[in-house]
Amino acid sequence: MIRGWPLELLGLAALLVVALIVGWIAGQVGLALFVAAACNLGWHLINLYRLERWLSHGRRFDAPRSWGVWHSIFEHYYQQRRRERERKREFVQLLREIRESTTAMPDGVVLMNQVGEIRWLNQTAGRLLHLRVPQDIGQRLPNLVRHPDFIRYLNARDYAEPVELSAPSARGLHLSLRIVPYGENQQMLLVRDSTRLHRLEQMRREFVANASHELRSPLTVMSGYLESMGEDDKLRVAWGKPLDAMRQQTARMTAIVSDLLELSRLETESREAPYAPVDVGVLTKRIREAALSLGEGPPGIKLELDGNLQLLGAERELYSAFSNLVFNAMKYTPADGQVTVTWTGDASGAAFAVTDTGIGIPAAHIPRLTERFYRVDKSRHRDSGGTGLGLAIVKHVLQHHGARLEIESEPGRGSRFTCRFGPERVNRNGERSGTS
Ligand code: ADP
Repeated sequence: MIRGWPLELLGLAALLVVALIVGWIAGQVGLALFVAAACNLGWHLINLYRLERWLSHGRRFDAPRSWGVWHSIFEHYYQQRRRERERKREFVQLLREIRESTTAMPDGVVLMNQVGEIRWLNQTAGRLLHLRVPQDIGQRLPNLVRHPDFIRYLNARDYAEPVELSAPSARGLHLSLRIVPYGENQQMLLVRDSTRLHRLEQMRREFVANASHELRSPLTVMSGYLESMGEDDKLRVAWGKPLDAMRQQTARMTAIVSDLLELSRLETESREAPYAPVDVGVLTKRIREAALSLGEGPPGIKLELDGNLQLLGAERELYSAFSNLVFNAMKYTPADGQVTVTWTGDASGAAFAVTDTGIGIPAAHIPRLTERFYRVDKSRHRDSGGTGLGLAIVKHVLQHHGARLEIESEPGRGSRFTCRFGPERVNRNGERSGTS
């Protein structure tokens, strides 16, 4: 069957032939050709009109019937529209399925635009965050969820980890909130009920704290008796070696118990550390004395301290963190090595660093050093008498102060542990400065 342009041209040719014949018979060839051209123009105008009406009244689905090239045009448009409608139907269906599945999800989902206004939320998010639909749609989320931890999390713009907070909707309910950026500056908030996890964590903490507390009294009794037995000359003759071993092990257990208690205390106190002025110079000198009395490592510790810099924090916690770093440096550095403590500042804050020329740490172990009971070399560790909890304590103390721990080390050459504090934790008082 001939279609489209060939048919159109054939029809035009036929019209011209007929016009020529009729014009020739009537002796009016010009007029006949004019009438033929006018008819052809009229035909195209009628079809243009039908096309325009069909396109503007898009709801009517059937394409107008026509002939020649107009038939092809109508047919093309019709097929295109049919495909578009099918695609649209599929999208709507997909959207409906996504909405239904997110509505049924046990986790809350809130979609926000570039300026943090709520565009959509599922039932769980509404229930957990106490949001209402449709009243709260279009409202800014920070105006509705005003928990200070959440506002801090939003402002920090670091969404790698979720933020934990107590639910605004019910007492005892704990939530884990996480922002997931997507598209062009759009954000999705995922809300999860973390009450069970929170309770388990609390139970774990309480268990460790109670167990450590209960172990303290029997350990004190045992060390007391072992001490007295060690002083008894008759007993020492037969039991000298076992008594020393028992004393050493009870001392280790006592150290572990006291570190565990310290860690539990730090964990339960999740608040930010206070901003009380701490004289790092005095603190470091106290730590140096205590470290040198341990009788391990080099005979001296070099101090390079900027006396103009005051640290704002919790002195007891800072003593615990800094002393752990200095004691470690002494423990893992031979007598002919060097341990240096520096306290310096610049526009970005201040740094307390402990550098040693000791045995160093292989790179693979560094990311895991702050885990509880993590040891680089277990046999070496037992000899060193460490608890494996020191760096975990350091990490917690620094978290309380919004600071971070940086560890650089090279096996055989030494290590540097740096505590970096933000400018809000530093006071410049323009007084003493000292090196010794
Ligand atoms: P420990 O009580 O065993 O010292 P820590 O948590 O303080 O426990 O340290 C964890 C591990 O990190 C240690 O067992 C040790 O292997 C390694 N370590 C810490 N500080 C140093 C250092 N200054 N030099 C070499 N190794 C270190």
